[in-house]
Amino acid sequence: MSVTAIVGANWGDEGKGKLTDVFAGNAKYVVRYQGGSNAGHTIINQFGKFALHILPSGVFYSDVVNVIGPGVAFNIKDFFHEREGLLQRGVPAPDLRVSDRAQIVLPYHKLFDGLEEERLGEGKFGSTKAGIAPFYGDKYLKIGIQVSELYDAEGLKRRLEAALVSKNILLQHLYGKPPIQADDLLADLLEDAEKLKPFVCNTTDLLQQALDNKERILLEGQLGALRDPDHGIYPYSTSSSTLAGFASVGAGIPPYAIKNIVAVVKAYSSCVGTGPFVTEIEGDAADQLRKLGGDAGEYGATTGRPRRMGWFDAVATKYGCAIQGATEVALTNLDVLGYLDEIPICTQYEVEGQRTAQFPATARLKQARPVLEKLKGWKTDISGARRFEELPEQAQEYVRCLERLIGVHIRWVSVGPKREQLIER
Ligand code: GDP
Repeated sequence: MSVTAIVGANWGDEGKGKLTDVFAGNAKYVVRYQGGSNAGHTIINQFGKFALHILPSGVFYSDVVNVIGPGVAFNIKDFFHEREGLLQRGVPAPDLRVSDRAQIVLPYHKLFDGLEEERLGEGKFGSTKAGIAPFYGDKYLKIGIQVSELYDAEGLKRRLEAALVSKNILLQHLYGKPPIQADDLLADLLEDAEKLKPFVCNTTDLLQQALDNKERILLEGQLGALRDPDHGIYPYSTSSSTLAGFASVGAGIPPYAIKNIVAVVKAYSSCVGTGPFVTEIEGDAADQLRKLGGDAGEYGATTGRPRRMGWFDAVATKYGCAIQGATEVALTNLDVLGYLDEIPICTQYEVEGQRTAQFPATARLKQARPVLEKLKGWKTDISGARRFEELPEQAQEYVRCLERLIGVHIRWVSVGPKREQLIER
């Protein structure tokens, strides 16, 4: 197992942080390859409880090299803020490397993210307002700023001035706000750049060498398959690819090097933000699941927003595993369902009067209704189980049933938020 990608098969918040933290114990490199500080990976270990937003989840192991790859939306202030937070809580200084090709989230990306959501009002996308959509917009418009550009003050100023021409027209005439000058940003950016210098390197070279030396590399995905802009619930998606296929691009690793793709799947559904969510439940049933879910209820690790809740969706999850190219699945939060007499799961959708097990594009997905079946609950605390055989028969059957429906081997079953609460089958 030289290169493993850990990715979400659902809408995000599947528990990738926990799994990456566990797997990082056997890795030499942990790499973030997409997204930015809009992520929120919750990790509970001997140092306490942490929500990582921009740092890779290997930061708790001092012999792991944590890499921010070229595909990441890199926010320098968040990087230092999070790093300081770890040090203050007694975590040894992690080995961190930032790609000189990663691009910077600038203050105006955040500003535009907030202004646009406000302008859209009811039609908003439910952005975390971390500047991610404006950042990736600029990247593909080729007006983004790479880390390496921070070390050429003259060139940086020219590139900022060029980018600000159109931004200022929007600021003044669409949003009714004062314009921004390159000089307003420059001093702060150059100061941050100096601080960042010791962490910056050519991470593509670094990882190529690691591959040559047959070191173990973990690629850590953010969000889930259904948030992918091409294959997910566009436009209620994120702005960078969440798929393992993109890990090769965003990290700088040959596609054929990725041998294992672990799709993290939640034993029920949760989702933050707007967009179609077929198995959604509301009222008391949702409140109860939300309250018991995760390690302290289902609230966004970045935003604190209450997550939308639903039953396990086999149609969406099978599709999510397929587009991830999952070679194996880690099923999380099974312990949470221990309060239910019967557990509904969605096995098919009904769209325009027809039953289907295929996950449709967004326009049709909006009309989909879940076809639910019920499985027997186990009504007991399973958080102490460490072998599959220790689980009650109904819980084992729940896992086997999900496995049959999604068609991928469920190799790990997570029965609590802590590192050790994990069963390998
Ligand atoms: P990520 O972004 O995919 O890492 O997921 P989040 O961190 O946003 O959400 C997962 C939540 O579930 C966190 O609160 C975790 O501590 C928690 N968690 C992870 N695995 C389990 C599990 O097996 N059982 C329970 N009860 N909580 C879990």
